[in-house]
Amino acid sequence: MTVAGRPAPFEPTDDRLKALVGQLSLEERVRVLTGETAWTLYPLPSVGLRALTVSDGPIGVRGRGRTPTTSAQMPAPSALAATWDERLAGELGTLMAAEARAKSADVVLAPVVNLQRTPVAGRHFECFSEDPLLSGRLAVAYVSALQRDGVGACVKHFVANDSETERTVYRSRLSARALREVYLAPFERVVKEAGVWMLMAAYNGIDLGSPRGRVGPREGAEAAPATEHRRLLRELLKGEWDFEGVVVSDWLATKSTVAAARNGLDLVMPGPGGPWGEALLEAVRAGEVPEEDIDDKVRRILRLAGRVGALSDPDGGSPAEGNAGDAAVDGELETASGDRPATRALLRRAAARSTVVLRNEGDVLPLPPDIARIALIGANALEPFVQGGGSAHVTPPYLSRPLDALREAFPSAVITAHRGGRTLRHAPFMETAVTAGGAASVTVLDGGGRQLEARTRPLPWDGSVHDLPAGAASVRVEARVRLGEPGEHLLEVAPVGAHRIEVDGSLLSESTHRVAEDALLDSSASHPRGHVRSVEVGEPGRELTVSATVQVVEAESFGRFARLELRHLPPGPGPEAEIAEAVEAAGTAEAAVVVVGTNPETESEGWDRSGLELPGRQYELIRRVAEANPRTVVVVNAGAPVLLPWLDEVPATLWWWLPGQEAGNSLADVLSGACEPSGRLPWTLPATYGDVPVPDGVPRDGVVDYAEGIDVGHRSWDRLARTPAREFGYGLGYASWSYGEPATGTWRDGEQLEVTVSVTNTGARPSREVVQVYLEAPGGGPQRPVRWLAGFTAVEAAPGETVRAAAGLEPRAFQVWDEEAHSWRTPPGEYRVLVAHSSRDVRGEVSVPVRAEEGAADVT
Ligand code: BGC
Repeated sequence: MTVAGRPAPFEPTDDRLKALVGQLSLEERVRVLTGETAWTLYPLPSVGLRALTVSDGPIGVRGRGRTPTTSAQMPAPSALAATWDERLAGELGTLMAAEARAKSADVVLAPVVNLQRTPVAGRHFECFSEDPLLSGRLAVAYVSALQRDGVGACVKHFVANDSETERTVYRSRLSARALREVYLAPFERVVKEAGVWMLMAAYNGIDLGSPRGRVGPREGAEAAPATEHRRLLRELLKGEWDFEGVVVSDWLATKSTVAAARNGLDLVMPGPGGPWGEALLEAVRAGEVPEEDIDDKVRRILRLAGRVGALSDPDGGSPAEGNAGDAAVDGELETASGDRPATRALLRRAAARSTVVLRNEGDVLPLPPDIARIALIGANALEPFVQGGGSAHVTPPYLSRPLDALREAFPSAVITAHRGGRTLRHAPFMETAVTAGGAASVTVLDGGGRQLEARTRPLPWDGSVHDLPAGAASVRVEARVRLGEPGEHLLEVAPVGAHRIEVDGSLLSESTHRVAEDALLDSSASHPRGHVRSVEVGEPGRELTVSATVQVVEAESFGRFARLELRHLPPGPGPEAEIAEAVEAAGTAEAAVVVVGTNPETESEGWDRSGLELPGRQYELIRRVAEANPRTVVVVNAGAPVLLPWLDEVPATLWWWLPGQEAGNSLADVLSGACEPSGRLPWTLPATYGDVPVPDGVPRDGVVDYAEGIDVGHRSWDRLARTPAREFGYGLGYASWSYGEPATGTWRDGEQLEVTVSVTNTGARPSREVVQVYLEAPGGGPQRPVRWLAGFTAVEAAPGETVRAAAGLEPRAFQVWDEEAHSWRTPPGEYRVLVAHSSRDVRGEVSVPVRAEEGAADVT
């Protein structure tokens, strides 16, 4: 039987796996342990295994092709986390499974369950939350739904991979306790509760230190790269947690043959090439890697294949020939996706509900339906920033824009749009209109500078040159540019790697610094630095030639490419005039909606930010618009925290995340009140950068020291008694809530403790409340966070309605990791159970006695 063109998924028995492995030669077994390409594994037709395909997430399923087909583009994971809604996470997981099918992908490289340890982390938007419990619970819902539909999840990046600076080499140093209680916690949940089928070992190393905080002495035990960390991969993950899936390396992360193979890594990606292959075969023959280790890895891959329908039917049916996966290997079967009505509706609801109301003085929001005039302002209003950069990037089928969506939501209003100044540092791609012939000429050269091939590329062009012939060493790009408009033009040329650039024969920039795959890993290839020539143009315009030669980048199994972006900023009104125009429009409108935020130059994999400022002159724009219009609504379009110094001076502020393809519609639904923005912050919003407990993730002497220990995120803010702009868990929605007296059952060892409370919607609209439960520990025990999130649940209620909320606290919520005893234990005493609207808005409290475990001494 087949499911959607695949053989039916099944769970192969250990005996069957052993039998299959027994049919394979050592060469075949070793070969399948390295990718055949960047996204596929080798098939083993003799045992009915077709080539498995993996594809990046977590914002959508990207597919494997270089020319991407469209994919449903979800709000960023931090937005999903702001819903605190496991059911919604499940719905998105189900959508991802359908998307994976459309792309013929067997495994989606998602979710990311690393924590938002520092707000400047480049991949902050890709993570759910700064809290281990919230991250873990959402990840379980998402993975379970995905895998229920026969598509594997690959949870990543294992572990303590929480920042991007020097990301392929740093070592995270943290105590075993912080690792267990905080950074491993979401992984443990996804392994044990969702039975995840694949896990990605991170680029960084992990240094566990000794129980007393010293650096661990044994390489491969306490301190080692994540891809060869025996204690974590073999002893903990595969031993203690009984993980049955495949451990894959992050892309190009594996550096060793024997250590990685012996210490628990199963699969090296991407391929072909890399440190395994022939070298591993030799090592097995030389007795340096036991053959049993190889067999275990192959069994894991075959088990995964069975689960996703990439292995022949267990009843001995025919090998999976001609199914979706086979075709995908030839690159045939990727279909465009993401544009069904049900997908649109789900993504719209997710983005709207995730929106967090940070302020709403005098119930400025929702806007009245009969509003007559709205000024829509901001670079991000015109060009919303819908997804962060890096491997998570997908191409959506369309983008719902705020202006169109607002016009639909407020049909009787006059809505005008104003940029209010650019916020990007880089100039836009050069447009066709300024180039004679509308195209750039691209010449591929060999090492001696001889022409191998000539192509043209119509402008605007992203500057990438792929499919290079053998012997290609560099690429020459030339464009004849006509600058018509009088005034100052900026010509910007942005190469990747070694280059020489001339404008009208005069040298603009030259470098002999060659790059390789590092330019992909640090994302500099997606955002190359520009070299700028300012050109003053009078009547009747001017023509110039831009001519540049750039190296061919050899990026291992990511292939070969060259890249050189041609950019151009024509004369324009300039920021001052644009801001003034926006302010004037705000002055005559009934409401001003200012969309501010980050942009593709700010939030991406590959780098961390150096601070939390909004780019450009957006602060000034907000102040001046707010002065001009008393009904100013600020919408923050960013994945990770930015400073909002005016937050309590404007009437209303919404946090709108990186909302994905349904951006405009979701915003219109929130502004009009068609959907309740019930988001609650999954991280802490700082008031100043100086207050941030962990201000960066910059390695010092190669080490990122997790000195804050178990006090991740809001726990550190509590420990340091600092006041953020808005605390973890904050979000007003459009209603208000009153809480009754909370109650708990009796604590019993090994059981869930139920916490109940009745809550009343005291607002005027139906709404949703996230009831958060925090714990505070009794005195005298081991050091604990001041307060920690121990459970949560959500309820919906009509105006005036009272509903009962019940949240279960798991035994783990009370436990600490005892480093000496190497086990979990529950310090006894009277715990305070806080029922709260946010981490600092406690609405009720009850205490619960926790008995000492039999025979247990307290941990000090
Ligand atoms: C990222 C992973 C990603 C992989 C494949 C790596 O650089 O860290 O998250 O899945 O590339 O694109």
